Amino acid sequence: MTFILAAAIAIVSPDVPKPYEATAAKELGAYLEKCVPSGKITVGGATDVVFHVGDTVLARAKGLAAEQIDEDRWIVRSFGKDVVLVGGGTRGTLYAVSHFLEDFCDVRWWSDREEDAPMHDSLALPALDVSGKPAFLYRSIHRSHNRAEADPRLAIRRRLNSNGLVPIPAEWGGGVEYGPPDHAHTFDMYLPWSKYGKEHPEWYSLVGGKRIGGQFDGQLCLANPDLKAAFLGKLREMIAKGDATAREKGLVPPRLYEISMNDNGKACECEACKAEYEKWGKSGQYLRFVNALAAEIAKERPEIFLTTLAYLYTDEPPKGGVRAADNVIVKLCDTRSNAAASILEPGNDVFVKLLAGWQGKFSHLFVWDYAITFDNRTLGFPYASEFHYADTYRHYIANGASGIFWEHEYPLVSDLWEIKFYIESRFFEDPYLDEATLIRDAFRRYFGPAAKAVFAARRRLEEARVRAKAVVGWSNEFTFISDDDLAAMSALWDEAEKRAKDAPTYLRRVKNARLGTDKLAEYRRKMPLRRADGTYVADVSHLDLSHVNERGRRGGVIDDPESPICGKAVAFETEPNAHGYLSLPFSFGVYDTGTKKVTGGREFKNIDTSPGYHWYTLENTTIPDNAMLFFTRAWQVQAPFGYPLLSGKKFDIRVAAKFEGPEYIPGSTATNRIFIAGYELVPR
Ligand SMILES: [Zn+2]
Repeated sequence: MTFILAAAIAIVSPDVPKPYEATAAKELGAYLEKCVPSGKITVGGATDVVFHVGDTVLARAKGLAAEQIDEDRWIVRSFGKDVVLVGGGTRGTLYAVSHFLEDFCDVRWWSDREEDAPMHDSLALPALDVSGKPAFLYRSIHRSHNRAEADPRLAIRRRLNSNGLVPIPAEWGGGVEYGPPDHAHTFDMYLPWSKYGKEHPEWYSLVGGKRIGGQFDGQLCLANPDLKAAFLGKLREMIAKGDATAREKGLVPPRLYEISMNDNGKACECEACKAEYEKWGKSGQYLRFVNALAAEIAKERPEIFLTTLAYLYTDEPPKGGVRAADNVIVKLCDTRSNAAASILEPGNDVFVKLLAGWQGKFSHLFVWDYAITFDNRTLGFPYASEFHYADTYRHYIANGASGIFWEHEYPLVSDLWEIKFYIESRFFEDPYLDEATLIRDAFRRYFGPAAKAVFAARRRLEEARVRAKAVVGWSNEFTFISDDDLAAMSALWDEAEKRAKDAPTYLRRVKNARLGTDKLAEYRRKMPLRRADGTYVADVSHLDLSHVNERGRRGGVIDDPESPICGKAVAFETEPNAHGYLSLPFSFGVYDTGTKKVTGGREFKNIDTSPGYHWYTLENTTIPDNAMLFFTRAWQVQAPFGYPLLSGKKFDIRVAAKFEGPEYIPGSTATNRIFIAGYELVPR
């Protein structure tokens, strides 16, 4: 099957192309039309170039039959004017096309939204003979559960073979997918406590003297002699279901089935289990159970792997000679590393030690790793992990890991997502690429004229982290970035914007990439200031006034020499005798934006009627993780309040307020007005 593009470029497919071969040919055609609209392409000097995509007659004639090529290996080779793009398995040909477009046409896929497909007047290619096979067997970057936010095309174009938790369809080569029920914490999905707990309490863990199971309350009793048969029956059902679904979708049947503990630390406390822990360790007992299932499955379906989590009480290596069977994949979760530092830095050795301990105890190991911080308040705050991926990948592969599942969610807001994603995917293919060249090239291509300034901002960030010996986990305050660092970084981002001002694409990228730094600056501005005596103070600049003028009310910031905090106040007027939310009692309190509940508050029916400001105190209040302070019954003035440094601590909250007018002060002739100067926090 041959088709000729508008630009007179010829593309040949197999006579009956597989869905992924048809996609590969279409993909090549679409990008060649974009990148070389003149159609002027030569290969090793030859004109009238013809591209042969997939398992074509020419590829077979040249000894490049697809079925003889390893899964995920890709080959781009020219024979005179003929260029063969082919690969093994269902994805190799797609990889050949994306490599050709990247390596020879300068196409780059950065995210679902950002790509470069530069236009060339003509394309003079050398004689071509390149090929490759990704170093890692399992290459997964999870960015969203939602298909609309995780287009599988990006995964294939970047040579991943898993799109996180969003499956890759057959026409894009399919992925290395998990069969049902899920990719993690599956004990209760196989044998739900709610379904079998009554009839077979003995299958479930003994916790605090009672048999209990369930995703959050218990586990299975792995010493129970009847459990294996029951579980195996369910596993066979799941495999049949996985096969059927794959058949429907035209996909290769799933090769991974997850057998793993529920998401809690409540291991069985029965005597039989305890005896087994003694012999093999908790992870050893658990692995023996998975191995026993795997031995049965190996007889029936040798291509299937059972995967299992080494997590919480099972992340310690097994003892007593237990090792995972050849068709079992151990998945180690890296939840304790310093995400901003190299895995090889002193002080970042928790996971290194864990990985060392597991040596010799598995045939296949995947790592579940994290490329983001999860706390909503600090999500997107900058940390320069792009400089350390090389160490991570090299350490993993040198220690036997053949796959990584990256959690790298929130592409729109997480720190420098496009650059990090690009580097993550490149190292999957070759962890020994020269990292300095790779990183500089990524910055140069992604930020164009702004690259140098952005790079300088990131170096400054990294220097700050090193100087402060900072640890970045899932919810940090990022105090390692000093106010000076922040100012310097902001100035460099300004410089980057200036350099990109005439290039809308680069300018958009710079503006998006600086959001984390801007968010941190905003966070610092709104956070109450700590005084030398340990108390905190917040003036009007820390208050959120976006509701002050709602519902026809008039208000705003005024200069007020009487204000006990920085000579300013937020003032708002109310109509005389209005029975609204601005009438007494005056109130303020703490709202937990996580649970959506008011967790503390006080109403002051009697205000101090003597002139000037007075302090109103809410005593001994615990600050929730995600909190907001509100003032007046209308919550007209608010203050973001959820800062990790404050959360969980107890304070007296003192608010400085002044009241004028007959509604508040009997006999007053002034207009009814409330003034709020700010607040203080006094630790308990
Ligand atoms: Zn037990």
